[in-house]
Amino acid sequence: MLRPGGSGKRFGKPGPGPAQPARDPRTRPRLARVPELPEVEALALDLRGRLQDRAIAQVHVAAFSALKTFDPPLSALEGTLVDDVTRHGKFLDIDASGLHVVLHLARAGWVRWRDEVPTIPPKPSTKSPLAVRIVLDDQSGLDVTEAGTRKSLAMYVVRDPADVPGIASLGPDPLTDDFTIDVLREILQREGRKQIKGVLRHQGTIAGIGNAYSDELLHAARMSPFKPASSLDDEELQTLYDAIRTVLGDAVARSRGLAASELKGEKKSHLAVHGRTGLPCPVCGDTVREVSFADSSLQYCPTCQTGGKPLADRRMSRLLK
Ligand SMILES: [Zn+2]
Repeated sequence: MLRPGGSGKRFGKPGPGPAQPARDPRTRPRLARVPELPEVEALALDLRGRLQDRAIAQVHVAAFSALKTFDPPLSALEGTLVDDVTRHGKFLDIDASGLHVVLHLARAGWVRWRDEVPTIPPKPSTKSPLAVRIVLDDQSGLDVTEAGTRKSLAMYVVRDPADVPGIASLGPDPLTDDFTIDVLREILQREGRKQIKGVLRHQGTIAGIGNAYSDELLHAARMSPFKPASSLDDEELQTLYDAIRTVLGDAVARSRGLAASELKGEKKSHLAVHGRTGLPCPVCGDTVREVSFADSSLQYCPTCQTGGKPLADRRMSRLLK
């Protein structure tokens, strides 16, 4: 049962995030930190190996705003065996004997494995990044943290993952066998004149692709982020489909086997355009550009994607009128 106001569909605006060492101001490292499909997939794999067949001893909530459900209660998890850890879009799902702990890490959330967790429950604190601690029967456990001040991390305890609204409304997963080129064609036709960038990262349309990977796979497909969805010809459709499978598949393959602590660095080091405004495109050497898009901004390479022409910043030109 959901708490009033609980919703898995809110994807917050960019928060300030934790302090970063001083660096080239043209780069925006904070944009590269949101876990998307490949990182959540790798997290699920990593946690499956650590949690499977262990029992949950206790669940401590330090940030009450993170918990979006009240029935079943947290105490129902105590003593349950973890059967599996999976992913739905960007949601992480710990299946504990038929109860599900579902986590949406949002913009600044992360999961940290600990070989030994303190036995004393954590004190709720607005200064600590700790949101939830799951203690296992051998005193190992995991800390779910959220950096920054914008609290959008969400945890749900449900009997069925589909009880989480953000999961119930997810579009198809782009890495499953069911996601064929015909499925993508239907989606793009249905979305009509909407810009392809927005279509790709809308969770109800396709699950798991966010701001970073939509930039990356459009760059791989050499396609303008503002191209209308239904305007793709057959060749462009094939190129985009291949880019989705390759960019996401490669990211998952690279992340597989990496511990949670290494995942974010891995993601950043392989991005071609996202978060790289002002830096050279690794394919052609042109300067990566940025325009505002919806609630944030996108990055692209003019030579690779827009015939050498920089995209007009529509928000800016609207303000200037
Ligand atoms: Zn380029």
